Amino acid sequence: MTNNKSELGERPLVNVEDLTVIFEARGNIVHALDTVTLSINAGERIGIVGESGSGKSTLALALGGHIQGAGRRSGGSVDVVATDVFTASPEALGRLRRGHLGYIFQNPIGTLDPTRKVSRQFFGTDGRPISEARIANVLEQVRLDDIPRVLKSYPHELSGGMAQRVAIAMAIEHEPRLIIADEPTSALDASVRLQILDLLKEISIRSGAALIIVSHDLKAVRSYCERVAVMYAGRIVELGDSKDVFAEPSHPYTAALIRAMPGEEGIDGEIRGIRGNPPLVTKRLEACAFAERCDYVLDECWHLRTEPTLQNNRWVSCHLASRGISARAAEG
Ligand code: SF4
Repeated sequence: MTNNKSELGERPLVNVEDLTVIFEARGNIVHALDTVTLSINAGERIGIVGESGSGKSTLALALGGHIQGAGRRSGGSVDVVATDVFTASPEALGRLRRGHLGYIFQNPIGTLDPTRKVSRQFFGTDGRPISEARIANVLEQVRLDDIPRVLKSYPHELSGGMAQRVAIAMAIEHEPRLIIADEPTSALDASVRLQILDLLKEISIRSGAALIIVSHDLKAVRSYCERVAVMYAGRIVELGDSKDVFAEPSHPYTAALIRAMPGEEGIDGEIRGIRGNPPLVTKRLEACAFAERCDYVLDECWHLRTEPTLQNNRWVSCHLASRGISARAAEG
């Protein structure tokens, strides 16, 4: 699975190839990522969607080499800004993280040190505190009002939206080439969600940084991202242009996710949820993990592993796609 520029020979900013990550605890193994392949170009905005446990946050963490504890890479590679994150020296990995990556997480209050005022939360790539003038400049870039007051505030004195803007300022202060926002708005009031997404898009366009938005919110990804990767059971099952994928999903899981979106209710006014639950993947998949929930299951789906197929200018892992049929076409 590549994209146009990398097919033309330009080195992508991010290149993930066949990445497999497992978590092991007390003899139990979970395959969190299974042969994930994805490349991202400089300045590109891409969304990663899927239900809880689909592997999207693990993939986001893997880009910074943050697979630790019970987790380990069991195969494949991750190359980010010309650094192989799983074989790089601790110094090279530190340079990548501090110099080129900016992570933004769901809970901004958890990102900020509760014992420090905002003016004491910022540190340079050398680990030293940065000047208040520089902090004020970055806070201006994230459109915070009354910056003198914000600088003097402790995190608990900020609203959720203000705290997330401070967390974004911390993530972009060193002008990263890749911003990874993991559910950046799900802890915020609906009224500020769009403002934060607008801000992230504006920063990406202004700075030229690539932006990854990991989200349950398909509508946000459709609006703010140029491409989307749909994940299920640790695999990317559909990868393509956002507008095309949302207009005409090829994978039955993508189609089911879209049907379950608020605003996509059927004629009876009901949101059509996906029946059943995602599986816990305890070994390499040799069948389609979605088979028990799929309306279009074929005989081979129960015993034959799916592989990515290029269909309608996007990558799809589904036996229907191998037969040249999209989920929307199968719906009739
Ligand atoms: Fe459905 Fe089969 Fe495609 Fe899986 S491979 S999504 S079961 S049609």
